Amino acid sequence: MSYKSERSFERSMIPHEYIEELTRRTDIVELVGSYVQLKRKGRLYGGLCPFHSEKTPSFYVYPDTQSFYCFGCGAGGDAITFTKKINSIDYPEAVKLLAARAGMPEPQEDDKTGRMRSRILSMNKEAARFFHACLNSTVEEARQARAYWRRRGLDDKTIVRFGLGYAPNDGQALYQFLRDKGYNQQELDASGLFKRSASGRIYCLFWKRVMTPIFDLRGNIIAFGGRVLDDSKPKYVNSPETLVYHKSETVFALQIAKRSAVRRFVLCEGYMDVISMHQAGIDTAVCACGTALTPEQVRLISEYADEVILSYDSDEAGQKATLRSLELFRNSPEKEACCRSPVQRTRTSTSKSMAQSDSKPCWTVWAMHWTSGWAVCAASMIWHRMPSGWNT
Ligand SMILES: [Zn+2]
Repeated sequence: MSYKSERSFERSMIPHEYIEELTRRTDIVELVGSYVQLKRKGRLYGGLCPFHSEKTPSFYVYPDTQSFYCFGCGAGGDAITFTKKINSIDYPEAVKLLAARAGMPEPQEDDKTGRMRSRILSMNKEAARFFHACLNSTVEEARQARAYWRRRGLDDKTIVRFGLGYAPNDGQALYQFLRDKGYNQQELDASGLFKRSASGRIYCLFWKRVMTPIFDLRGNIIAFGGRVLDDSKPKYVNSPETLVYHKSETVFALQIAKRSAVRRFVLCEGYMDVISMHQAGIDTAVCACGTALTPEQVRLISEYADEVILSYDSDEAGQKATLRSLELFRNSPEKEACCRSPVQRTRTSTSKSMAQSDSKPCWTVWAMHWTSGWAVCAASMIWHRMPSGWNT
C-alpha cells in the first residue's frame, strides 16, 4: 500500500458523523485566533497569513462558512486543514488535536494501521531510552561512544537535548529489551529497528553505532540515524521507511527550529552539523533526512522560515547538493519572490570571504533572499561560532 493510499484509507476510517460533530464544536475564528492576530472586518476576520511572509494582511477567516483563505498564497480550507497545515501534521493527527481542544474523546482508531502506528512510536521511544542508557553505562564500548561524541565537540547538555545514544555491539540486546516490554514479533518487524540474518537470527540494524533519534514535529521519535565510531563501512545506517517514518517528508531538528523566534534557517548537510550548530546557539539549523533534499522538505521548511542559508560542505558532492537544493527553493511556490536576489554574486563574495579566513577548508555557503553583504556577514558569524572539532 502506498503512503498516499494509506492516508486516504485512514481518513475514511474516521466516521463522517465524528467529523461533523468536531466541526460543530470547533469555532474556526477562535482556533485561528490562537495562532494569528485577527481583526474583525465586518463579517470577516483578517490578519497576517501564517503560511507565507507578508506585511499587509491578505489572510481571511469566514465565520459563516467556518473556513479561511489567503489571497496572497492561496492557502485555504476548514479548521482541520488549518490545523494540519499550521502544525505540519497529517489528517488523523489534526483530527485528534482538534478533538482534544473540543473536549471530545479521540476518534476510534480501531483500524490496524493506527494501532500499529502508535505501537511503533512507543517502541521507538523505548529504543531511544535504551540507546541513551547504553551510552551512559560503565562498559568500555560505552566509554568509547561517549569519547566519540566529545571528539565531535558535543557537551553533555547537547547529548541529552538531542537524546543521543549508543547501540551496543550485542545486536540482540535491544530485541530482548523490547520483547520484555511486551512488543510482539509483528510489531518488532514493523518497527524498522531490526534485521534478520540469513540464518533467521534477528539483530539490531544499528549495532555498534552512535545513535541520533529523529523526531517529528510533535516530538515523537519516528526513526534513527546511526554512525560507526571508526572508519568502517557503511558509515551511516538510517531507519528504513515505516508506518511512522517517511524520509522524504522529514526535516531533522525542525521540531526545535519551528519554535525559534528567528525565521532565518540554516540548512545543513547532516545531523552532526545541525547538532553542532544548535550547541553553538543557532537553533534554526536543520537538515534533510536522506541524502537529497525533496520538494516536500522544502515546503515544510518554507512554512517556518522566511530565509534559508544553504550550508553544505565545499566538496564536489556538497556543491552538487547546493545547486540541486537551490533549484528546489527557486521552484517552490512559497518562496518564488525571494529567490530573485543575485545568487551568483552572493556565492562569489561569500566563497571569497571564506577563502580569506584562515580557518579550515571552506564551505560553500549560499544565501538566498539576502543582499550579498548580509550573507557574507551571516556566514562568517556562523563560521566563527562553531565549537572546535565540529567538522572533523
Ligand atoms: Zn498566505
